[in-house]
Amino acid sequence: MNFKSHLDEFEVFKKVAKAAANLGIETYVVGGYVRDLILKRSCKDIDFTCVGSGIELAKEVANQYDIHVPLSVFKNFGTAMLKLEDLELEFVGARKESYRSDSRNPTVEIGTLQEDLERRDFTINAMAISLNAANYGELLDPFNGLSDIKKKLILTPLDPNVTFSDDPLRMLRAVRFAAQLDFDIDGDTFHALSENAHRLNIISGERVIVELNKIIQVKKPSYGFKLLFAGKLLQEFFPEMVELQGVDSVDDKSHKDNFYHTLQVLDNVCLMSDDLWLRWAAILHDIAKPATKRFNSKVGWTFHGHEDKGARMTPDIFRRMKLPMDERMKYVQKLVKLHLRPIALVKDEVTDSAMRRLLFEAGDDIDDLMKLCRADVTSKNNRKVKRYLENFDKVAQKLIAVEEKDQVRNFQPPISGEEIMEIFGLEPSKIVGDIKEEIKEAILEGKIHNNPVQAREFMLEIAKSKGLSPVLDRPNS
Ligand code: ATP
Ligand code: MG
Repeated sequence: MNFKSHLDEFEVFKKVAKAAANLGIETYVVGGYVRDLILKRSCKDIDFTCVGSGIELAKEVANQYDIHVPLSVFKNFGTAMLKLEDLELEFVGARKESYRSDSRNPTVEIGTLQEDLERRDFTINAMAISLNAANYGELLDPFNGLSDIKKKLILTPLDPNVTFSDDPLRMLRAVRFAAQLDFDIDGDTFHALSENAHRLNIISGERVIVELNKIIQVKKPSYGFKLLFAGKLLQEFFPEMVELQGVDSVDDKSHKDNFYHTLQVLDNVCLMSDDLWLRWAAILHDIAKPATKRFNSKVGWTFHGHEDKGARMTPDIFRRMKLPMDERMKYVQKLVKLHLRPIALVKDEVTDSAMRRLLFEAGDDIDDLMKLCRADVTSKNNRKVKRYLENFDKVAQKLIAVEEKDQVRNFQPPISGEEIMEIFGLEPSKIVGDIKEEIKEAILEGKIHNNPVQAREFMLEIAKSKGLSPVLDRPNS
């Protein structure tokens, strides 16, 4: 690969090289950009390491441009960032690091390029391209990262026990890169990873979830989860998911392994959507199966109520994992809670009211719920899978037909509380809510259609039975 011609293609490298020459400091393109260039992946973050002050270099680079280039300086870290259209340039002085065992915050000392590359996490991330006149465009690859890219291997530049113990987050990064790039983790590195897994406990939940979400957002996340599980990392931060693993047998009756089932559902959902939260719903849909598992000699294994219990577990898991406690959590919780409902609608004799209830409860998330349900079909018997999916198609069609007729997906009460209060001369009170609720129930049950005329008639009827009559002769009504 000719790195010099790549550098020549982009103005930014010329400017950085010029700035470095002006200051007389050695400068290199390093890390993820070099790796992604070799892998032909697009990359919008460029890291520059110089043997000197990254902040001074960044300022000098900004001077090279006629236009104003926004500069952020992080004095404590000795780094600076420039924003250039869609690129982010980060500048840092080469450093060597030493760590204390009780913290991942290193004490930083100025180092050489070699020392800087040594402290990086993986050989594929420890390459540099020179921007210096003497060897402009040359690849510096002291740990054979290029060859590991060809071999599709993740391994650490130094003893993996040292690398992981210095910064345990690197263990998650190993899995993340393996999952993103579809690489293997080298044997020794993987062994060190499972040996050091318990050290993850010094890493903040916020950093763990960033890596986990990156693993979830790859094309086929099951691979990353299998590595996390086999490397004993998953146990450290997601014990509920580990609990899903395993098969129990009684009287020759066994249930499926819910860990591998969940991973299959997750991969299936990934074929239908890139949405992180739908993927989380797949991860959590059966999370309460271990807690609700029972054996009954007549029917075998049951997991009654696992959808409700799973929905109740969702906020706790989100809170602990530092996932957002907002509408995204509510969305996942809703999908977990409702994930069995469309299956129940497969039977022919299902009433429209059951359809209306599901549309009402799922609202605009009904399409995602149907995706989750389709993904949940994981039988090895292809004929069965085909039949189930066809059944879901039928349910989807029925849902569309009912929605067209009754519009309950975004249910708005046809009569507002204010109107009810005005009509009967009521103050805000429980009875107003009761009347609204009964109207809604009547619509969902199909006793009346979802329109103001029928709703009004019905309201007058139920109000009468409650001893209420309309205030007809109010002076200004
Ligand atoms: P991506 O940007 O896709 O996350 P990246 O490799 O660029 O991948 P960054 O987190 O941007 O990852 O880090 C840039 C470079 O800094 C890495 O390529 C690696 O050389 C180094 N690096 C980052 N985090 C660590 C770490 N925890 N330990 C050692 N080196 C690291
Ligand atoms: Mg990066």
